[in-house]
Amino acid sequence: MKAGIHPEYYRTVIRCACGNEVEVGSTKKDIRVELCSKCHPFYTGNKARVVDTTGRVDKFRKKYGL
Ligand SMILES: [Zn+2]
Repeated sequence: MKAGIHPEYYRTVIRCACGNEVEVGSTKKDIRVELCSKCHPFYTGNKARVVDTTGRVDKFRKKYGL
């Protein structure tokens, strides 16, 4: 019997800089990101609280017609 030919697969938590945590399956035990689905402008629209200090979200929304 062969063993150990697949990487181990964990239930792990992605921790975002905004404080949001998302549980996923991954071969990594600990994942940290700076943007997640909750704080990325694409998902939050005008509620972005991390990067919206210079009108970036407005530009983003114009660019994509939102
Ligand atoms: Zn986030």
